Amino acid sequence: LVSSEHHPGRSTVRVAGVPVGGDNMTVIAGPCAVETPEQTLEAARMARAAGASLLRGGAYKPRTSPYAFQGLGETGLKILADVRAETGMPVVTEVVDAADVDLVADYADMLQIGTRNMQNFALLQAAGEAGRPVLLKRGMNATIEEWLMAAEYIAQRGNLDIVLCERGIRTFEKATRNTLDISAVPVAQSLSHLPVIVDPSHSGGKRDLVLPLSRAAIAVGADGVIVDVHPAPETALCDGPQALVGDDIGELAGIAATFAPLV
Ligand code: PEP
Repeated sequence: LVSSEHHPGRSTVRVAGVPVGGDNMTVIAGPCAVETPEQTLEAARMARAAGASLLRGGAYKPRTSPYAFQGLGETGLKILADVRAETGMPVVTEVVDAADVDLVADYADMLQIGTRNMQNFALLQAAGEAGRPVLLKRGMNATIEEWLMAAEYIAQRGNLDIVLCERGIRTFEKATRNTLDISAVPVAQSLSHLPVIVDPSHSGGKRDLVLPLSRAAIAVGADGVIVDVHPAPETALCDGPQALVGDDIGELAGIAATFAPLV
């Protein structure tokens, strides 16, 4: 279902009317985690200024340590819905448990499945039935074929509104959190008709890498980027060191504008 063999041409996925794929370069931005209404609204304004048309923000945070901030849950979803009402930006947010899919779908415009859950097949199937587009991140230890097969689990349930997201893979290299597999973008685009975007924030794990990796993603033909921004990253409850701030915002907007649709 997701293979380009049986589906010539490239698909465009619409998230509450916002296109991802085709001739578009879609920027998704927002805080890594929803912390407070004020922080989320401020981050959404930064996202908008950076050229983003979709707001990201985690209410359920799958953290490596069980002692780290796990997200606000439904309270976070409500904050996202309020910020959408205020800014008009559709919301992309992660769901980590099949049992929560319906709840998250009640608030979200797009369901995100994170790297750690790429092969959580019950979750993929539930997301496939939720009636929302799905952003499927590549497992940090997954091959491109495994990633596309994970997408197939969603598609099999009748949902072809899937956007693939390359977010770095685990290699021997320790200078970055994960290694952005830039070649995965054209490879996945040749094997599948689904749009492919890049997460330069979670792959590099460092603010200084986010803009260079965004340029690389766009240059290689990605259909978009998903980027962390935060009004006060030094106090962020999650991944502050990778969040864009201040001047970075204008620069990201410039990068995005360069590749704005020609039509
Ligand atoms: C995220 O985008 O919030 C996230 C946790 O990303 P990943 O699943 O790629 O680590």
